Amino acid sequence: MRIDVVSIFPEYLGALGLSLLGKAQKAELLEIRVHDLRDYTFDRHRTVDDTPYGGGAGMVMKPEPWALALEEILEVSPVEKPVLIVPTPSGEVFSQAAAHDMSTSEHLVFACGRYEGIDERMFHWALEHFEVRLMSLGDYVLNGGEVAALAMIEAIGRLVPGVVGNPESLVEESHSDEGLLEYPVYTKPSSWRGYDVPDILLSGDHAKIAAWRKEQQAERTRERRPDLWTRRQDMA
Ligand code: SAM
Repeated sequence: MRIDVVSIFPEYLGALGLSLLGKAQKAELLEIRVHDLRDYTFDRHRTVDDTPYGGGAGMVMKPEPWALALEEILEVSPVEKPVLIVPTPSGEVFSQAAAHDMSTSEHLVFACGRYEGIDERMFHWALEHFEVRLMSLGDYVLNGGEVAALAMIEAIGRLVPGVVGNPESLVEESHSDEGLLEYPVYTKPSSWRGYDVPDILLSGDHAKIAAWRKEQQAERTRERRPDLWTRRQDMA
């Protein structure tokens, strides 16, 4: 999978070179390129923003540097219409289902906005060349799209085959197909500061352990995320 990220703070995306995603790039499972939007400006101050038409607070990102950056990315895209993901608090809320969906794409491009966002015309233009997805990380406002892009790339990247060493660990996770949260997990020592690992996990009885974990998943989901629990019941 190829991933391009456009930002005015390319250093922000440095974390993509660490841990599993860093290893996945070395193993050529992922190819991630980060681009500085300011490289697509022509004035001395490398200006990417201007005042909003109609007045109001803040600045708006100019459409032209975006079009130039994205056109350059399109030229090397392995597909005709890559997916352009635009982090925005007014987008669809990102989810594990969206991560699964995007993990099958050959080419994802992230456009990290700043200030009051990007001139709306950029999106109309982009629709001609990309499958555009406006995605929100949640119902709150960040300073820029970089943190949202990092979160989405990590969630998507770990679903690309081979990135996570043991694919089994993706199956039982929270927000997997079953719509349940993960059961509690423990490691050695079996007794720690007066807190003990549940006996069942030391029993060696795999069927009973599996049943206990399922119960824990249901209990946790009911308690912590009644919204998910109700949705699961409605779908049953
Ligand atoms: N004025 C915009 C609004 O009210 O929708 C918010 C702009 S915000 C300060 C600057 C940038 O941060 C946005 O263009 C977007 O790229 C990013 N951003 C902020 N909150 C986000 C969220 N919840 N999810 C994804 N991206 C977000």
